[in-house]
Amino acid sequence: MIQIRGIVQGVGFRPTVYRLAIKHGITGWVLNAADGVQIEVHGSSQQLDAFIQDLRANPPNLSTIDTFIVTNQPNHPFEKFVILESKDRATEFLPVSPDLAICPDCKRELFDPTNRRFRYPFINCTNCGPRFTIVRAIPYDRPNTSMSDFDLCPDCGKEYQDPLDRRFHAQPIACEVCGPKIWLQVDGQTTSSGEQSLRQARELLKQGKILAVKGLGGFHLVCDAANPTAVATLRERKRRTGKPLAVMTFDLSIAQKLVDLSIQEQSWLQSPQAPIVLANPTDQGKRIGEIVAPDQKRLGVMIAYTPLHLLLLEPEPDFPEFLVMTSGNLAEEPIAFDNADAESRLGGIADAFLMHNRPILTRMDDSIVANLDGQPYFYRRARGYAPSPLILPFNTHSILAVGPHLKNTFCLTRDNYAFVSQHMGDLDNQETLDAFEMAITHNQEIFRTRPELLVGDLHPDYLSTHYAKSRAVGEDTTMLQAQHHHAHMAACLAENGWNTDEPAIGLIFDGTGYGTDGTIWGGEILVGNYLSATRYFYLEPVPLPGGDLAAQIPARTAVSHLLNAEVNLNKVKLPPLDFLGKANVQATQHQCQTGFNAPLTSSMGRLFDAVASIIGLKQVNSYEAEAAIRLETIADETQQYAYPFIIDGDEIVTEVITYAIVEDFLAGKSQAEIAGRFHYTIAKIASVACRLIREQRDIDKVVISGGVWQNLLLMQKTLLLLRREGFTPLIHHNLPPNDGCISFGQVAIAQRAMMD
Ligand code: ZN
Ligand code: ZN
Ligand code: FE
Repeated sequence: MIQIRGIVQGVGFRPTVYRLAIKHGITGWVLNAADGVQIEVHGSSQQLDAFIQDLRANPPNLSTIDTFIVTNQPNHPFEKFVILESKDRATEFLPVSPDLAICPDCKRELFDPTNRRFRYPFINCTNCGPRFTIVRAIPYDRPNTSMSDFDLCPDCGKEYQDPLDRRFHAQPIACEVCGPKIWLQVDGQTTSSGEQSLRQARELLKQGKILAVKGLGGFHLVCDAANPTAVATLRERKRRTGKPLAVMTFDLSIAQKLVDLSIQEQSWLQSPQAPIVLANPTDQGKRIGEIVAPDQKRLGVMIAYTPLHLLLLEPEPDFPEFLVMTSGNLAEEPIAFDNADAESRLGGIADAFLMHNRPILTRMDDSIVANLDGQPYFYRRARGYAPSPLILPFNTHSILAVGPHLKNTFCLTRDNYAFVSQHMGDLDNQETLDAFEMAITHNQEIFRTRPELLVGDLHPDYLSTHYAKSRAVGEDTTMLQAQHHHAHMAACLAENGWNTDEPAIGLIFDGTGYGTDGTIWGGEILVGNYLSATRYFYLEPVPLPGGDLAAQIPARTAVSHLLNAEVNLNKVKLPPLDFLGKANVQATQHQCQTGFNAPLTSSMGRLFDAVASIIGLKQVNSYEAEAAIRLETIADETQQYAYPFIIDGDEIVTEVITYAIVEDFLAGKSQAEIAGRFHYTIAKIASVACRLIREQRDIDKVVISGGVWQNLLLMQKTLLLLRREGFTPLIHHNLPPNDGCISFGQVAIAQRAMMD
């Protein structure tokens, strides 16, 4: 008997086993069990060895084998080799494959006039197509998917049952005769269907209209990326003023008109995960970037990853080559994925809907990666990656970690599998909270987990914390709370296989998180492990006038940092003071001095905001961290001199930095120079602090996490300095450095806490 676990279902595993069994002349059977693939074989020991060797060496491309166990049991010969019905036992489980981009074979067939699926918008096979987003339950078989209502026609049925066909047991297979259909809808009325609806949709895009297009994990809002009026209209209706929008192209060669791509970036774009890749724009890309992603250094590009997208983007003279493809939602609500829901929520945004009738059961945004040292570095982990489990360096209880408030993900565990959810968004509104609760319930069923331990953030007011608390009470389960920056550190440790209580250094530069002393942390240099983390150094705390309001209005934070640096606000002329006006400056100053609604913070993100504001880059954030992103965009990367800074006890004193920046600004130094020097200063502080810790504690492993590390300029400078000093930096590879990693860190902390 051979038992194989990992991602082995929905990826053509059984047909591969079948083909190899025939090849080596052995008999027996293979089946999908709920916990993996089981194979029973009979043959000479030579035949069996050759078969096993062959299978180990040539598993299906898209599979991931975690365990491969061969047990010897004497068995009787079988008549032939067969593929048996799936077997299910209630407690077993198996990772479900993420959704996969269309494969080269299907892409070729889609545009082959002799193929029976020529121009069929839902062509797929064992190597590609929807997976997790159409799964209702496991095992992954057609009746357990949203394809259950589509009965296979005789032709599809033949392919489905033929082990030598590429579509053997491809659960979502369909064709024009038996499968899902598309249609175009305007004001709730169907205006056309099939090919006609594609033509109409393309015509509308050409005219600068906005389309809602149902995709794999939800709806996209789509328009011509080169049409400034269309993009402005989309932004206005979606209430997304400044935030960058991603662009989709038909293929790689068209994407290369917009961005200069390294070999690795090209392979990511063409991979089955097909994420949005943030890359450096070409001259043409810069012109498009001014429209879709103003003030950004990089442009987010993806290539058509479903047959429907390919048909929509098919090149033709006069048809736009670059389409904006942004999540179908209003402001910060979750992406719409149900037809009726989309109609009601996107009706005010889209001029028309390109619909289809294959139900999406789980919403899934596009993933976003950038290139860091040739490796994908995540900004958002969702389609293509979730729900692939991360492998923990230890076994766990059955844990549910509910994550933080912003950029939420949650995480369920079983054995050493950590199922980090796809990006959920900010739990600010009822819609997102509902989506969060629904997804937890769904994933618990899919992964057959029953949490025996709950863990949330230390912040008393987070809705995720509330959710975990009420479940803990209702289910009489233990609940733990993990400090936000400790969780950042633990996440990065666990991702890097840390399985000891040895301490590491944590450079946790973040927006905000609730500290153990009740103040708001975010510029922390920690020393610790999963059990605990000590705040070794931290940014000198300053008042955050107006609390959360300050994160939206960097000018307010700037006032606080200016006061801290003892800059005389009545005597200098600085952009944030001009912006706020005398009365507001006075009120803000009063808040800072009295501490009224001005909690103390050591946030690094807010320091970046303040600097961007002081040098006149940005006074109001239209989306999270906009000012800080601007600061990175314009910074002169060649700056190699740090502003003076002081490390006084455990405080990193920032007032000298602020003061020097004000002097430089008033002396007429360029924004680029100041921003570049500031970046270098922070990298320098990080490396000096690490050196001080190494002198005292002899630690050379440095974990780097927190939202500020989405800043690649800061990251590269810091990595360079740390490596030069002989440190081993550990960075995130599978999860974003932002709060998307928190739930995974909470798991590691909770598991270790329960071991004693
Ligand atoms: Zn395919
Ligand atoms: Zn069919
Ligand atoms: Fe954070």
